This record gives sequence, C-alpha cells and structure tokens, in this order.
Amino acid sequence: MQTLEANMKEKVQAAWNKRPLVISGPCSAETEEQLVATAQQLAATGKVDILRAGIWKPRTKPGMFEGIGAKGLPWLQKAKQLTGLPTAAEVATAKQVEDALTFDVDVLWIGARTTVNPFSVQEVADALRGVDVPVLIKNPINPDLELWSGAVERVARAGIKQIGLIHRGFSSYGNTEYRNAPMWHLAIEMKRRNPEMMIINDPSHICGRRDILQETAQRAIDLDFDGVMIESHIDPDNAWSDAKQQVTPERLGEMIGNIIWRKEDVASEEYHAALEKLRQQINHLDDELMQIIGQRMKIAESIGQYKKDNNITILQTNRWNEILERAYREGERKGLSKEFITKYFDAVHMESINHQKKVLDS
Ligand code: PEP
Ligand code: MN
Repeated sequence: MQTLEANMKEKVQAAWNKRPLVISGPCSAETEEQLVATAQQLAATGKVDILRAGIWKPRTKPGMFEGIGAKGLPWLQKAKQLTGLPTAAEVATAKQVEDALTFDVDVLWIGARTTVNPFSVQEVADALRGVDVPVLIKNPINPDLELWSGAVERVARAGIKQIGLIHRGFSSYGNTEYRNAPMWHLAIEMKRRNPEMMIINDPSHICGRRDILQETAQRAIDLDFDGVMIESHIDPDNAWSDAKQQVTPERLGEMIGNIIWRKEDVASEEYHAALEKLRQQINHLDDELMQIIGQRMKIAESIGQYKKDNNITILQTNRWNEILERAYREGERKGLSKEFITKYFDAVHMESINHQKKVLDS
C-alpha cells in the first residue's frame, strides 16, 4: 500500500499534466462489483487517466439515490489497486474531505451545486488547508463567473496549488436540447481570466443524454479545452443516477478514440503566415463592421430627432418586426443562424434605442 501510494503521487502528477486529460467512471458508486468492473473495463480501453465516482450525490429531490456514502470509499481504493488508475470524487463538506483523504482519493472535485454556495465552498476550503491534493472546481449551476472565480479564490487561499476547472454547463429555464446549456462563451471567458489553469469539459452533465456526447466533447476540444470528464457505467440503462447520459466503458473508449485532437499551435511558418493573412482580413472586416454600425447609429439619431419633433414613441413594434423579418430572410441566404440574427439585432436595436433616447432627452 505504501509503495502504491508513493507511485500514485507521481501518476497523479503525470495525469494532471497530460493533454488531453480523460477522466471517466460512473456517476455514482453503487456496489463494489459495479465500481470495480467499470474501473477495470475503463482501464482496459487504455484511454482513461483518472477514475471518477460519485460517493455523495447532491440530488435535486429527496428520495432519489443520494450516494452510497463513505462505505464506497474502500471500493474506490480497491478499484485503484486493481487498475492502477488514480481516483477522483466529489466533496461538499469538511467531513467528506476528511473521509476522502483517509481513503487516499487522489483528486477531489467541488460539484456545481456546491460552487454556488460560498459557505460550503469555504467549509471545503478550510478542510483542505495544509493538504496537498489537486482540486477541480465545477462551474456553479447558474451562469455566474464571479461565483466560479470566488470558489477558485477560496480554494487557492487555503493553499491548494493544483486547481483545475470543469465546465459542466448552466441551468436555464425552458432549454430543451441540453440538460445544462453549455454557454461556451462563459467557459471561454473563464479560460481567458485564468490562462494557466487547466479547464476540462464535462459533456455528460451538459448533454444529459448519450446521443450528443460525442459532438459536445469534440466542440470542447476544438475550443482548446485540456480534456474531458465523461460518465461511464457497465450497465448505463440501469444506473442508479444519470442513467440517460452514461455510456459503457467500451463506448467511452470509442468516443475518446473518435475525438480529433487538434493542436493550438504548430511551428510551421507557412501555416503562421497564412493564418496571419486571414486574421488581418478579419480585423479589416471587423473595422468596417464597426464603421457601418456607427453610421447606423447616426441615422437612428436622426430618426430620434424627427420623433422628438413630432412627439412619437421610440419603440414602434411594427417597424421592429419588419426589421427582424427582413434580417431572418437575408441571414438565411447567407448561412447565418436565426439564433445569431436574433441576438445580433437585439443588441443593435438596444444600442439604437439608447442613441435615440439620448436625442429625445437632450
Ligand atoms: C457529477 O459529476 O456526477 C455531478 C453531480 O455533477 P454536477 O456537480 O456537475 O451536477
Ligand atoms: Mn452525474
């Protein structure tokens, strides 16, 4: 055991630094057999770096399976012994941190429902003081980067040196395609703010279903994420939690094998020259767009002046519908999605209204 743990430290470091990093395992540890068999099959794929398992499960409703609890920790230890895979589990309280560390869990993660609560994050952070263990922090369930950053800061202030981020999507009312809307721009912004910090993607909790896991994982890799965490279970349909989104270890292996791993950078000069040229074209077009939008605002201001002179309201719903309908038609021809057109015109419209309002108030 002593040597296993000593070797394990190095293995964890190697996994932490490996790109792409692949973490997989069941949503929940259910039985010793289920966890060990899943771990062995995952290890056999040769594509997994860290074994995950939920020991304590924060569930939306009481009566759902709330995790096997500390009883599952020796199973996780056994799975590590048999496969050589470092382990990871979610912790949400000081006691859970203590128990997980007693059973040599190698990587801890803070779940989305915990990141939202500064009291809980602080409790976990305090329990981590003086401990040398890598910690992954999932984004909060609501799209709030400050809350996510706050959790990172609390854990960092407790002295944890190895902190990574997990993007698992955000809860949004009325969204149907995803269980948790990815809102990629938020993950990208978090990455921009923490350039040195590892960020991996959790397609399982974003998708909530198997059929779009592969494309979501690919999207993350295309956006230069450092790896993925994907749930896997020996018998997904009968899993005690998150049955719809889990895949067999075999399928997990296939999925990881199918991912096209792109490099962020290559040394070739030719490539850099070609890219530089295209980027200049984009800068040029962006400058033109700004100029055109500026002109559009000037015209909106002139309209504002007429409205003011004639005492007419700023917003005229019919006119706005007409603008949108035209834009959808034109946009479709140019291959622009309706979603983009809507967002773009909403933003332009709001800016126009603000410009007109300034004229009306002057
Ligand atoms: C999980 O990883 O099983 C989990 C509970 O995820 P999240 O915190 O992202 O909901
Ligand atoms: Mn889960």
